[in-house]
Amino acid sequence: MENVRESTNNNSAEVLEARKDSILQKQDGCSGNGLQCDGNSVSGAVSQRACVYCGARVVLNPITDAFHIVHGPIGCASYTWDIRGSLSSGDDLYRNSFSTDLQEQDIIFGGEKRLTNAIEEVIEKHHPKLIFVYATCIVGVIGDDVAAVCRTMSEKYGIRVLAVKSPGFSGNKSVGYKMACNALMELLLPHKQEVKGKGINILGDFNLAGEIWIVKDYLNKIGISVVSTITGDSNYETLIKAPSAMLNVVQCAGSSTYLASRMEEEMGIPYIKISFYGIEDTINSLIRIAEALKDEEAKKKAIAFGETEKARLQDFLSIYRKNLEGKKAAIYVGGGFKAISLIRQFKSLGMDTVVVGTQTGKKDDYEIIESIVNKDTIILDDANPAELERFMKEKGADILVGGVKERPLAYKLGIAFCDHNHERKHPLCGFDGVVNFTKEINLSMNNPVWKHIKNAV
Ligand code: SF4
Repeated sequence: MENVRESTNNNSAEVLEARKDSILQKQDGCSGNGLQCDGNSVSGAVSQRACVYCGARVVLNPITDAFHIVHGPIGCASYTWDIRGSLSSGDDLYRNSFSTDLQEQDIIFGGEKRLTNAIEEVIEKHHPKLIFVYATCIVGVIGDDVAAVCRTMSEKYGIRVLAVKSPGFSGNKSVGYKMACNALMELLLPHKQEVKGKGINILGDFNLAGEIWIVKDYLNKIGISVVSTITGDSNYETLIKAPSAMLNVVQCAGSSTYLASRMEEEMGIPYIKISFYGIEDTINSLIRIAEALKDEEAKKKAIAFGETEKARLQDFLSIYRKNLEGKKAAIYVGGGFKAISLIRQFKSLGMDTVVVGTQTGKKDDYEIIESIVNKDTIILDDANPAELERFMKEKGADILVGGVKERPLAYKLGIAFCDHNHERKHPLCGFDGVVNFTKEINLSMNNPVWKHIKNAV
C-alpha cells in the first residue's frame, strides 16, 4: 500500500497524506522506527477521539459522591451525562450532571458570577465534600478564572472545590486525562503525610459493570488489601487515603500512568502497569502485584488460584474454540494496554488480529503490539472511520471490538461487533470476563443474520 508505511503497493485515496505515519503494516520483525502517535488529531481526518473536557470527565466521573459542575453551555454537560457504566456501592450523585448553562450575556460579560452562584447553590442544597468544576471551550475563550473562583469557594465553605482545566480545544483526549490527574493530585497532596500501610491502590479502573469488585475479590483471595480505587466506586473519604498505599497498580495506562508517575515522584509510591483482561494477563497481573510487594505468600496463592481458574475454564474454552478458530479480529479501543490484552485473548481462542488501533496508545504500547501481531497486520493510531472501514474490508475482519462510535460502522459493513467500551453492562475482566467475552464474540460472529445480509448484498 503506497499510503501505508512498511507496506506493499495497494493504492487508495482514503488515507490522508498527514495520516500515513500513523499507520503501519507489520513486516517480518519490527519496523524499529515506530508509529507516529500521542499527538493532536489531524484536522479533517474525523478522529474517533472525544475532546479534552470529555477525557477529563470520564476519568473523574466515577467518584460517587462528587459533584461535577460543567462550566459552559448545556451541550457539554449533556454530551457526557452518565457517560460510563460505572457502578457504585454507595452514593449515586455522580450520575447527575450539573451545568452553569452559559448564555450569550455571560459570554459577553464573563461567567464567573454565574459559576459562583452555581457552586453556592450546590453547597447550600446538598452539602457536598467534593466538587469538580470543568472549564469547557467557551470558558477557555472568554478567560474566566475558574481556579480563582474554586479557591474562593473552598476557603469560604471549607470543602474541596477543584478546577479542571479542560477547554475542549486545548489538546486531545489524552490532555483531558492529564488534567483530571492534576485535579486528583490537588485533592491528594494535602494528605501525603499519611503513614504507609500494606495495601495497594488500583488506578485506571472505572468499575464498569462492577469490574473493580471482581479484581478486589481476586486480590482478597491472595491476601492483598486495596486502600483506594481511582476512580471506580471511589468517594472522597477513600480517595484521600490513597497516599498511604505501598503500591499503585495501573489498569488503564492511557488515562492513569501520568497520575501514577506523579504519585511516585511526589509521594514515593512505586507503580506497575497491569491488565485484568484475558486469562494469561489476569494471572500474570496477580503474580506481578505480589512480586512488587515482595509478598511470597501472596505469590504462591496467585499461582495456585490462577492454575485452578485456568483449569476451570479449559473445557468451556475448548467448546467455543471450535466455533472461533481461524476467524479474524479487528480491534479499535481507547488505550494500548487493552489492545495488547485483546490480541493475546484472541490468540488464545485461535483467532488472528488483522487490524489493531487505539485512540491514545503510546510509543511503548505500539512497540509491544507490533511485536505480538502476525505479519501483515495493520496497526493504526487515532484512526478515523474511513481507515477502519478500508482496512477491515481489505483484511476480511469477522468481528470488530470497539466502542459506541465504532458499532454502527461494523454493522453497516455486515461485520460482527463486541462492545469493549465504557457503556457496556457486563464485566469483561478477570476469569468471569473471559466467559462473557467468549460468549459475546461467538454469539455476534456466528449469528445467522450475517448470512442473510451477505446474501442480500
Ligand atoms: S468542551 Fe468544547 S469540544 Fe468539548 S463538548 Fe464542550 S464545546 Fe464541545
